[in-house]
Amino acid sequence: MQQDSLNLIKFQKKFSTEKACQKHLFRLRWPAGFECPRCGNRKASFIRTRRFYQCCSCRYQVSLTAGTVFHKTRTPLTKWFWLILLMGRQKSGISMLSLQRLLEIKSYKTIWTMGHKIRKAMADRDASYQLAGLLEMDDAFFGPSKPGKRGRGTVGKAKVVVAVETDQDRPRFAKMRQVQEVSAQALVSHFKNCLMDDVIIRTDGWRAYRSLVSDPQQHEPTVVGPGPNAVKVLPWVHALIANAKGNLRGVHHGVSPKHLSRYLAEFCYRFNRRFWESQMFNRILNACIITSTITFAELKA
Ligand SMILES: [Zn+2]
Repeated sequence: MQQDSLNLIKFQKKFSTEKACQKHLFRLRWPAGFECPRCGNRKASFIRTRRFYQCCSCRYQVSLTAGTVFHKTRTPLTKWFWLILLMGRQKSGISMLSLQRLLEIKSYKTIWTMGHKIRKAMADRDASYQLAGLLEMDDAFFGPSKPGKRGRGTVGKAKVVVAVETDQDRPRFAKMRQVQEVSAQALVSHFKNCLMDDVIIRTDGWRAYRSLVSDPQQHEPTVVGPGPNAVKVLPWVHALIANAKGNLRGVHHGVSPKHLSRYLAEFCYRFNRRFWESQMFNRILNACIITSTITFAELKA
C-alpha cells in the first residue's frame, strides 16, 4: 500500500495512461492475481473487445471496475486518479468547482457525482472502525445562520454529534454523525456500533450520552455553560467542530443538510489518516474498490 503520492511529477508519469491506471487498479483489487467473484477460480482470459475477464472455470464475466466506484464510468481513470489524489492530499479539502477546472471535466454534475461517490467510499471504510478508550463527545449545529436572526437561530441548520478518541491529551480518531436530535435513541442508533464496550465518555451535562455506556461510571459529564469553560473541559471535540465548520464554510461554501453527512465523512476520513499522508492515495483508491456503487439518483435522494 505504501506509495509516495506526494510528488506530482512522479504521479503524472506513473498514471499518464488508462492502461497504467488499469494495471494499478488490478493489483489493488486482486493482489494475488485474478480471483473469480463467483467461484473463486484464479484463471481468467481477458476478452479485449469487451474489456471483460472471463473465468476459465465457470465462464463468469467480470470487468475490472464492476462493483467499484468506477463501474460504468465514462470519465477516464486518469482523471479519477487525479481526483482521488487531490481530494486526499489537501488537509482542508478542495472545492469541486476548482477540481472541475483542474481536471477539465465538462459538467459540474459529473464532478459533483464523482466527488460524492468517493466520499461515500470514505464513509463506508470508516464505518468499520470503532473508537476506544477515552472519548470526548459533544454536539453542535452546522450550517449558515439565517440573516436577520440574532443569536442561536437554528432554522435550516443540521445537528451533528462528534466523538473524538483521545490519547494522553492528543486527539487520535474522530467520528461525526448528523442526527435529528441528541436523544438517547438517536445516539445509540448512530454511535453504539462504533464504540468499543469499555470506552469512557466525557461530555457536557446532557444526560442522553449516558445511554451509550453500560456502566454509569463510564460516563463523565461536566456541567458547563456556553463559552470558554466548555472548551477547557472538552478541548479536542471543540477544536474539531471548529475545524470542520471552517472547512465546510471556506472550501465548500456551505453544504446543505441533505449532503452534509458525506462531507463530514470526508473530513473525518482525512483527519483519521493525517499521519499517513503518503499512503492516502492508495488508501482512498482501495476504499473505492471495496465500496458498493451508488448512482446519481441515489445520491440526490
Ligand atoms: Zn468462476
